[in-house]
Amino acid sequence: MDREHSKKVDLFQRELILCGLTPNEKVVVLSEGNALRDYALAFVEAAKQLGSEVEDLNLSTSEALTADERITQLGKSSLSDNKAAMSTLKAADLAIDLMLLLFSKEQIEIQASGTRILLAVEPFEILERLFPSKESRQRVEESEKLLASATELHFSNEEGTDVVYQLGNKQILTEYGFTDTPGRWDHWPSGFLATMAKPGGVDGRVVMAPGDILLPQMKMLREPISFEISEGRVTKISGDAEASALNGYIQNYRDDRAYAVSHIGWGLNEDAQWTVDVPGIGMDARAHWGNVLFSLGPDIEFGGTNDTQCHLDLPMKNCDLRLDGELVVQKGSITY
Ligand code: FE
Repeated sequence: MDREHSKKVDLFQRELILCGLTPNEKVVVLSEGNALRDYALAFVEAAKQLGSEVEDLNLSTSEALTADERITQLGKSSLSDNKAAMSTLKAADLAIDLMLLLFSKEQIEIQASGTRILLAVEPFEILERLFPSKESRQRVEESEKLLASATELHFSNEEGTDVVYQLGNKQILTEYGFTDTPGRWDHWPSGFLATMAKPGGVDGRVVMAPGDILLPQMKMLREPISFEISEGRVTKISGDAEASALNGYIQNYRDDRAYAVSHIGWGLNEDAQWTVDVPGIGMDARAHWGNVLFSLGPDIEFGGTNDTQCHLDLPMKNCDLRLDGELVVQKGSITY
């Protein structure tokens, strides 16, 4: 137990150093109920050892969700009506999010106050294996420049995908696994980037192939699933049993906004594995080198108003992705 704890303290300290934590900064470690208390205590100790002021902000709740539960019902949490906790988080320089605030209004409000946020909820073995580096940041930021200068994104695969995203007022979400920039959010582990089309600006067809991955289901497909897309919305999902199951999953949310096309981007982490046979929420598949990450659901992380709780991340391999006609991903390999 003690040895496990000190391994965590050591790794978390390396992460806090990557996040540029200095002794005159304040860290708030946010957790809920009993979920990831071991991480909370280790982050507190790691921050103390670096000489920073640190607060262990543990929200009491009757039903703390694990990360894999939270990811199926994003947006609402025990932070939603907690003004005192919100002001503590806004007064911090760095918040460690152990409860998965992603796609919540609270996260956006905390970022707007200048607090940088690091999400860390994956099992320790995955945090260790996919530990980020300054090189991962360079690679993601180099890709960000390519994406920022493009006006049209096209992706395709041999299964029949042929879809265009009009990149208008684009915000780009970079994820390289640490954050030293005020107000910036990141997720440890990661290694990819994503953006949104302008409203209504996605048309075509996406066909996921056998071997592509459904998240948060942590399921590798055995059959193709086809999505017809018109003006930024999925109008039809077709295929066999796996397509029906996916459609049923979405319909269970009883929220038409779940059919909106969400972010699009590609993976840049060479250490990430193409597998669902790992614990946690599937960051390996999301960040896998040369994937195309197709997604449905909310857009509030990108400045929109769709806060549906149904968010699907759909990493696909062996795709071609072009920016203004230039290949950046070719059959699942990065070209630049
Ligand atoms: Fe996503």
